[in-house]
Amino acid sequence: MKNLGTILMAAAVSSLFGASVQAAGCHTVEAGRFEYVLYECDDKVSASDVKKAETFLAETEQALGTSVAKVEYHKVALPEQIDALTGMYGVGVTIPKTGRIYSTRTFHAHELVHRVAIELGDPGRFFHEGLAVALAEEKGWSRKDVTKRAKVVLAQRRIGDFVKHFERMNQGDAYAVAGAFVSDLVAKHGVAQVAELFRHAGRSKNADGAFIATFGTTLEAATTAWAQAL
Ligand SMILES: [Zn+2]
Repeated sequence: MKNLGTILMAAAVSSLFGASVQAAGCHTVEAGRFEYVLYECDDKVSASDVKKAETFLAETEQALGTSVAKVEYHKVALPEQIDALTGMYGVGVTIPKTGRIYSTRTFHAHELVHRVAIELGDPGRFFHEGLAVALAEEKGWSRKDVTKRAKVVLAQRRIGDFVKHFERMNQGDAYAVAGAFVSDLVAKHGVAQVAELFRHAGRSKNADGAFIATFGTTLEAATTAWAQAL
């Protein structure tokens, strides 16, 4: 399993880089709602990637019941550049405060899910990453793949650790557990209901109250029962 993109929750970091980033791009391509800032001067965005991005964005908006006015999409060559620009090492990063996407790919479904989901609210990393894994298909990260890995991981560790301390856990394990749990929520309750959880959370980053309000049970009870049934 390779690394997936991420969502950067430390809002303070994004403002540090807000002004300097634009200047670092070599050229800009406007395509529909996407503004691509390309950091490699010979880089292009293919018409097929633009189409894929627009289609996937529209499908995700439809599924989550919200919309995005514009997508500022910074395309770099390497994860090291994303680290230098955002303080987060990864193939993709989405900054919640600005909605800005940094990615090593011109079409990155995982980051587009983050881009739409931040319009809804913030129940914390576990749910943001879980939703992105659940809705954006990646090779090796299907529902079956992540459920299998979650079962192995959760034989050793409590699921509550992943919910509460996502950043501190092995990241491959954390993405798999979150992805498997949110995929199961989507399968059982529908994606619109999962979007409601994000709305209920608002800006709180606290999923507990939002989970009860949305699903009528505590997050702890739901995650524990799910993990035991794996
Ligand atoms: Zn992510």
